[in-house]
Amino acid sequence: MGYVITPPPAAVLPVRGSADVFPVHRIYCVGRNYAAHAIEMGHDPDREAPFFFQKNPDNLLINGADFPYPPNSEDVHHEIELVVALKSGGTNIPVEEALNCVYGYAVGLDMTRRDLQAQCKKAGRPWEIGKAFEQSAPCGDLVPASEIGNPDSGAIWLKVNGELRQEGDLNQLIWKVPEMIAYLSGLFELMPGDLIMSGTPAGVAAVSRGDEMHGFIEGVGALSTKVV
Ligand code: MN
Repeated sequence: MGYVITPPPAAVLPVRGSADVFPVHRIYCVGRNYAAHAIEMGHDPDREAPFFFQKNPDNLLINGADFPYPPNSEDVHHEIELVVALKSGGTNIPVEEALNCVYGYAVGLDMTRRDLQAQCKKAGRPWEIGKAFEQSAPCGDLVPASEIGNPDSGAIWLKVNGELRQEGDLNQLIWKVPEMIAYLSGLFELMPGDLIMSGTPAGVAAVSRGDEMHGFIEGVGALSTKVV
C-alpha cells in the first residue's frame, strides 16, 4: 500500500549537541501565563484556570532562519516563551509525575497577528488566523532535561535590534510546567513529540520587516530570527 499523494515532510526540531532530531506531534500554547502580560492585555492576573490554543507542527521555524512577515496583518507581535518538549504522554497525569514526561526545553516565539486575534476575540471566534500561520513558531534547538534539569526560574528576555522589549523570569509563570502538563492531559491525550509553549512575559509589541529578534532563556539557550 502506498500514499495517494506525496506525504508531507515530518516536522522536527534540532537537538543541541546531537545529529538526531526531535519529531513534533502537536504544539499546545498557554494563554496569559504571566501576570504582567495578562494585565497589559487588559485582563485580571488572578489565577483562573489555564486556557490553550494550538499551532500546527509545520508552523515551526528553525533557529536562525528568516521570519517572513505574514499577509493580512499590520500588527504582528512577538511573544517570547519557554517551550517544553514531551518524550511521553498520557491522560490525567498527576502533577507529581508530570516532569517525567519532559524530554527537554527550548526558547520559542509565539508570533501573533494581533489585529486578527483582536477581531477574533471581539467576535467570539477561534484564534487560529491570529496564531497558527506559516512560520508563526520560531523555535531554538531543544536541550535535553537530562543535561539542564527542569528550570523553574531564570531570566527570559527578548531584544529587537538590540533593544530590550520583553523581560521576565520563569519563576513568574502563573501555571508551572508540571501543572500545565497535568491540566492539559485532562483535556487531551498527550503524546511523545508534543510541544507546549508556556506563555509570554510582559512587553509584547509589533515587529517590522528588517527587525532582528534575539531571545534568551537562562539555562536553556537562545533564538534568533530576522523579519523579512
Ligand atoms: Mn503566547
